[in-house]
Amino acid sequence: MSQAPNLGESPIAPASVLPSYLQADNLGPWGNYLQQVDRVIPYLGNLARWAETLKRPKRILIVDVPIHMDDGTVAHFEGYRVQHNVSRGPGKGGVRFHQDVTLSEVMALSAWMSVKNAAVNVPYGGAKGGIRVDPKKLSHGELERMTRRYTSEIGIIIGPNKDIPAPDVNTNEQIMAWMMDTYSMNTGSTATGVVTGKPVDLGGSLGRREATGRGVFTVGVEAARHIGLDISTARLAVQGFGNVGGIAGKLFAEAGARVIAVQDHGGTIYREAGLDVPALLAHVARTGSVAGFAGAEVIANDQFWDVDCDILIPAALEQQITAANAGRIKARMIIEGANGPTTPAADDILASRNVLVVPDVIANAGGVTVSYFEWVQDFSSFFWDEEEINARLVKIMKTAFAGIWQVAQENKVSLRTATFIVACQRILHTRELRGLYP
Ligand code: GLU
Repeated sequence: MSQAPNLGESPIAPASVLPSYLQADNLGPWGNYLQQVDRVIPYLGNLARWAETLKRPKRILIVDVPIHMDDGTVAHFEGYRVQHNVSRGPGKGGVRFHQDVTLSEVMALSAWMSVKNAAVNVPYGGAKGGIRVDPKKLSHGELERMTRRYTSEIGIIIGPNKDIPAPDVNTNEQIMAWMMDTYSMNTGSTATGVVTGKPVDLGGSLGRREATGRGVFTVGVEAARHIGLDISTARLAVQGFGNVGGIAGKLFAEAGARVIAVQDHGGTIYREAGLDVPALLAHVARTGSVAGFAGAEVIANDQFWDVDCDILIPAALEQQITAANAGRIKARMIIEGANGPTTPAADDILASRNVLVVPDVIANAGGVTVSYFEWVQDFSSFFWDEEEINARLVKIMKTAFAGIWQVAQENKVSLRTATFIVACQRILHTRELRGLYP
């Protein structure tokens, strides 16, 4: 008897055992992501039978990145590119250079990209890359050689229609220019659409650099309205004052809010009357951190979590808000500029204390939304002005947030679970429509 083809109606064996390297054997970022997926499965209806797709990255590439150092030695770095899901379109997501990068982290970041891209309904799957390196310890030449060799090594799986990297922690426009050039040299023609977040003179988009922070601000204002929080008198604490936290802080300050505490890798500063945000941005641009900023007092790093504020914006790295500090947070609302800053255990504590969490997978989606605009502009070789880009960004973010808010109300779930419901339904619906090959 021949086996019936799997047309989507047929059941899929539930919960076959995940390979050991995918199991949540620790509470690292991938473990947190798996817990977030488990929370959404009861809300997926019939699509739940495809849910295991979400627990298995489609493709994982680990590469050795050897380079000549300036002192004549050869150094080897470990690089990754993970394509979590490509059901809705090519993989999309940033590349991070950080000494603590691990495969588990890149897997989680790639999965959050799948969810994020589906949440704002841009036609992408999710991917992420990284190199385990402290880029501050490299010379300019070493950084360029490492970026180019990494790009060549992952060149077998990236491309404008396959997987499109972008900036993330410690990567920027210059690194995207080197990646674009390396890919183009290897393939024999200039392919601007292979990465986003490029310099504007190389096919980058106006507004891309500020887009993540602008998106954080946009959804933050929407969420504040729903809970009756007045932005013009709100007090903010921001962790990370780079491309995301710095821009979001600036936009909130322009709307009248007081940024009273900022923490970054250099330390924690505080000023009850509100920090001079433009001056602080200039200081960070000059010195690399908030340390040494005149016009603020220094407080202990751990005291940051006790700061009496209305809005907290974690905009640095994962796993900052945990069961150990969630009970101390005074804010009424947390807007996640970073990816994965809050653990599931902390989410539960915050929910029980009535703190609204606007999750990463919607709050920081502004960056990839304008990356999408950049990619579209590169394909059409027709570039838009900044006003049009910002207007389209705000429209997408507001529409997506409104839908998620409604799903949260209807199902009486957190905004994180609501975002996962919306996004996972989209991902699994396309998965079902496409069917299994062969
Ligand atoms: N790295 C950013 C993020 O985490 C942007 C990704 C992109 O533009 O592709 O969303």
